[in-house]
Order: sequence, then structure tokens, then C-alpha cells
Amino acid sequence: MDMLIGGKHISGEDLEEVINPYTGEVIDTVPIAHLQTAQLAIDEANNAKSKLTEMSAFKVSNKLFNVVGKLEERREEFAELLTLEVGKPINEALVEIDRSIETLRLSAEEAKRIYGESVPLDAGLNGKGFFAFTQKLPLGVVAAITPFNYPLNLTIHKIAPAIACKNTVIVKPPTEAPLTVIKFCELLNEEFPDGVVNVITGYGSEVGDYLVTSPEVNKISFTGSVTTGMMISQKAGMKNVTLELGGNDPMVVLKDADIDKAVKGVINGAFLNAGQVCMGVKRIIVEDEIADEFADRLVAATEKLVMGNPMDSKTTLGTLISENAARQVEETVNNAVEAGAKILTGGNRNGAFYEATVIDNVTPEMDLVVRETFGPVAPIIRVNGLDEAIEVANDTEYGLQAGVFTSDYASAMRCAQEIEAGTVFINKQSTFRTDNMPFGGFKNSGVGKEGIKYAVEEMTKTKLIGLNLR
Ligand code: NAD
Repeated sequence: MDMLIGGKHISGEDLEEVINPYTGEVIDTVPIAHLQTAQLAIDEANNAKSKLTEMSAFKVSNKLFNVVGKLEERREEFAELLTLEVGKPINEALVEIDRSIETLRLSAEEAKRIYGESVPLDAGLNGKGFFAFTQKLPLGVVAAITPFNYPLNLTIHKIAPAIACKNTVIVKPPTEAPLTVIKFCELLNEEFPDGVVNVITGYGSEVGDYLVTSPEVNKISFTGSVTTGMMISQKAGMKNVTLELGGNDPMVVLKDADIDKAVKGVINGAFLNAGQVCMGVKRIIVEDEIADEFADRLVAATEKLVMGNPMDSKTTLGTLISENAARQVEETVNNAVEAGAKILTGGNRNGAFYEATVIDNVTPEMDLVVRETFGPVAPIIRVNGLDEAIEVANDTEYGLQAGVFTSDYASAMRCAQEIEAGTVFINKQSTFRTDNMPFGGFKNSGVGKEGIKYAVEEMTKTKLIGLNLR
């Protein structure tokens, strides 16, 4: 597939192969953009700014709704392409498309609600006699840089609110999975003037870096790893940056929990998308009294998962993004076992597949739970009581989301108040998000929030206009 810049398809001499992680076959190629192409995208996005700001909010909203309709019509086609490039089961790909539609719809609605407020200057010393109000103005050009695990929905979480508040956009999709995003941007381009949305493919370290440091790009909206996010924040200088980074989310299971509910939470939270989820359940902190029973039930439920061809609707566990990624997970698990952890089920790799793995006797200092393990692994850390559970939950550089399972409201409230995370769910695993909620982590999990209304807040600037009436 070509890039999309200024409404034109742009190819390149150097090409990157997009590999189907299930078959190892090349699905397609995309150009490896170099700096000149990145600059072309920046120029086109800047030229298109006035075309968008001149458009009424009514029209912007309608056009976004038109794209909703187009994506709905082609739901299955988009899902199949997503499964081919990422290796996620087709049913999960369909969910991602449905959420993408929802994210777009929320943005189309939000496009009509972008306004400021009147400000009583007379509440301040010397402010009498003014009529003052604020406006929410677009920042200009937004660069959207996104990861491989939910390439479409996470990219739409940036593009759609950006356009809703009349910014033009340059998208740098993930190198491993750019196809669904390019195809989607073509739908947007059918509705909006050329240059409103541009896609450049290539390496983050080259074109991503160029976008981050360019003075003609007004905002970086990044989702990806902490390592890349930190690099971006150092290089971006005074630029407005939103960083949605990795997670190491705890699930706290207290002795009075509904064990079956918690087990279901792990199945949905640790193994969804083969564990490649920022808000995946990555540390299961279980009170000693119920740990054996919990582990037994978790193993039984885990062994029901069906690993296989991601295109088969019976498959519930697909591949990781690459064989290399699966090897990294294998190595991390093996190191934990050498340090004393015990695999209860799973633990084997086959190409880009890694089995759904439950691993017990994990201790908080093992790499498996210190770093973000991006694979289908459910590590159990046994603790003694609520205080220790909260302490272990907070013993991490991350703070994206958390889940707590208990039937005691006082314990629930203590966890809700004391766990340092952007979201704490009670009796629900961390791996849950609606596309309108404020989403974004504490600590190294990021800076800023997404979730359409909140993304709009981060993609607009506030101007105050004051009329001196005296
Ligand atoms: P990554 O950081 O390797 O890459 C993300 C994007 O950044 C890619 O498009 C990449 O090409 C680009 N990039 C790489 N180097 C760059 C640079 N120097 N300058 C600018 N851009 C650069 O992440 P990944 O492996 O694709 O994704 C997995 C990570 O993303 C995990 O840590 C996961 O937790 C995180 N994630 C976070 C969220 C969230 O909302 N908090 C959601 C999904 C994934």
C-alpha cells in the first residue's frame, strides 16, 4: 500500500514488508519514508489547516458520521485485514472494528460541542466592567504515532478527535501493522479536503523523530512503550505532548472475592490479544488463603482457550506480533522459572505463538513482573493481607489501570483510594475501557488523557477574549 499525503498516493523506492505473523508470509509492502517525505506531509498538513477551520462544526460532524457509515459497511473486510497483519483472532478484530466505529461516532458527536465559557473577570481584583469569554481553538498540525497492538482503534482515538476540533493530522502507523490504518485514512480522505489527514510509513526512529522535533508540528499524540515515550518527551521541547504508555496492571484478589468472577477477569485480561494489551492483567496479587483454589480454577479455565489460526472463528488465542516477540516472552518466563516460579500450565512457544501460561510463586522482584511482559502470561504473586496487596500493587514504575476483586466495600474503597493508577475498577479487571472514559496512566504510564472529550481538551488551546465595557 502507498502512503497518503495531500490526498495523493505516494510510493517510495525503499519498501518494508508487512508480515502475517501466523503464516510468516508477506501480505503487502509499504514505503519506508525518509525525511523529505515527512516534510512533504508536514507541508500538506499545514496547507490544509485553513480548509478545515473554515468548515462549520456541523459539516465536520456530518463528514465524520459519513465515515462511521463507510466503516460499518466494510466491517468484515477491515477486520480480516487487521487479523492478517496483527495475528489477533478474527472475533477480537471484529470487536476492534466495532470499537473504532464507536470512537468515530463519539468524535462526530463531540465535534458539535467544542466551545469555551464566559469568565467573570469581576471575581478578580480590578476585573469589574468586562465581558470575557474563552474559545477552544485547534492547535494546528497533530502528529499521531501509534503502536501495533490495537492499530486501528488507537489511531482513531487520535485522528478523530483531532479532526473534530479542526486540527489536521499526520499519522505514523506502527511499522509492523500499517495497512488497516492506511485503508481507514483513505475513507477519511474521501470526505475531507486533501491534506487534512496524511499517512507516512517507515521507521519511528527516523520519520517519527522528525515529526517530534519539527517546529511545524504543533502536537505529538503518542501511544507506545515507555522507552519511546521518554525519548519523545525529551526531544519534543516546548511542544504539546500526550503520552499513552505501557502498563503493568495489577489485579488484586482478596480472600472474600468471587473467585469465578476473578478467574474470568484474568482470562479476559491476561490473554486477550495474546496478552499484548497496555491495560492487560500483568500481575495477579492473590491473598494466600484462597491462592490454591484460585490457581486451580484459573488453570482449568486457561486450558479451555483455543490456540490456532486467527482467521478461524473458534480461535481464542492468536499469535504475538512476531516470532521475535514470542521469543522474548519465552525468555522472560524461563528466567522466572529459574528464579523459583512454577509454571502451572502453558510455557511453550511455537513460532509466533506462545501458550496461555499461568505461573505461580512469582515474587515482586522477578523481571517477569518488574517489566511489562507483553504476552499471554498470568503471573500469580501470593500475599498476606490487604496492606501487602496494596504495597505490591504499587511497587512498580507503571500506573495505568488496576482491578480489585473483593466483596468487602471497605477493602474495595481502600484499594480504590490507595492504588496509584489512572483507573481502579472494583470487581472488574483492568482490561476494560469504554471509548468515552478518561483514559491514561499515572507514573511512567503516561501524561495526559484520551477518551474523546478528554483528547479534544488536549488538542485545543484556550483563548480568552475580554471586552472592556467601561
Ligand atoms: P513502540 O514504542 O515500539 O512504538 C510505538 C510507535 O512509535 C510506532 O509507530 C513506532 O514506529 C514509533 N516510534 C519508534 N521510535 C520512535 C521515535 N524515536 N520517535 C517517534 N516515534 C517512534 O511500541 P509498540 O511495541 O508498537 O507497542 C507496544 C507498547 O505500547 C507497549 O508498551 C504497550 O503497553 C503500549 N501501549 C500503550 C497504550 C496506552 O494507551 N497506554 C495502548 C497500547 C499500547
